[in-house]
Amino acid sequence: MDSDLKDVIIIGAGPTGLACAIEAEKKHLNCVVIEKGCIVNSLQNFPVQMTFFTTPELLEIGGLPFVSSYEKPTRLEALKYYRRTADTYHLKLRLYETVLAVEGADGDFRVKTQTRAGAACQYRSKKIILATGYYDIPNLLNIPGEDLPKVAHYYTEAHPYYGMDVAVIGGKNSAAIAALDLYRNGARVTLIHRGTELSPSIKYWIKPDIENRIKSQEISAFFETSVVEIAQEQILLRNSAGKTWELKNDFVFAMTGYRPDLEFFKTLGIHLNPADQRPFHKNTYESDVPGIYLAGVVVAGMHTNEVFIENGRFHGEIIIKDISQQL
Ligand code: NAP
Repeated sequence: MDSDLKDVIIIGAGPTGLACAIEAEKKHLNCVVIEKGCIVNSLQNFPVQMTFFTTPELLEIGGLPFVSSYEKPTRLEALKYYRRTADTYHLKLRLYETVLAVEGADGDFRVKTQTRAGAACQYRSKKIILATGYYDIPNLLNIPGEDLPKVAHYYTEAHPYYGMDVAVIGGKNSAAIAALDLYRNGARVTLIHRGTELSPSIKYWIKPDIENRIKSQEISAFFETSVVEIAQEQILLRNSAGKTWELKNDFVFAMTGYRPDLEFFKTLGIHLNPADQRPFHKNTYESDVPGIYLAGVVVAGMHTNEVFIENGRFHGEIIIKDISQQL
């Protein structure tokens, strides 16, 4: 047990958690960041060749310039940038350590964790910031066969799928990007979307590309169609007219989006708005559990398209100002 009473423990070492830690360092607070994976774990799990939708300055934290060779930075550049920000501010990170429980109350919380080696650890802190993001829990299809090894809810790269029949489920950015990349690297791709058409929210430089590949039948597509069962060598589809049919299939990418771990918030006593699962919080981002703050996309509940790195990176400044005033 680390008996030292810290000022603040931040759970999650994504860009938002790191931005909070930097603000805490600037105010000379005793702060540690606990992360169950590697630093910026979500970005690590993004598609290997991913390019951000945004320009580098909008991803900057701690006032450190993010210099990219491109108008839109790559995942690799971002990984390097966030590693360097952690180095520059000498952030104290406990990586590959999972938070199991948060006990105690404002002024003296106890955070129980487990290291990668299985060792139990405990920390004490006056305040807690939850910056756990939303990329750990995929929206499941809840259909038979979804747990087969051929099914993935994260897309990394195309090479292993060359020459294979690959189904991509979803109608927004991740689905479009995965379908195009798989097609361009020699997979036979079928896009399956429950909606009537691809989402208008697909980025303007991606949408015509995927639409034209579908029009020219280079990528097959079924709209108003759902996958209702996944088997080893085929998938079963059903359309809105009730027609069902089988499709030969080797791999499935369910690009159905992700959600924050709101169950964990509930175990901490944080109340959620029943309508949209938005955790109750003040303008300072303090939740309705005194001393526990929310940072980044988690403030938006199920509205994960409201908060991105671009705006979530500013939450830390507001939170740490409030914490400093209270300590
Ligand atoms: P998303 O925007 O949440 O889209 C999920 C898609 O899956 C939607 O088309 C949705 O259908 C469908 N879906 C959800 N649940 C389903 C179910 N049970 N059965 C069938 N279909 C289902 O997820 P995303 O495309 O992964 O994007 C997530 C976030 O990451 C977005 O903010 C996006 O802009 C961002 N992103 C960024 C980059 C980048 O920076 N390079 C790349 C990709 C994504 P409906 O439309 O009918 O709801």
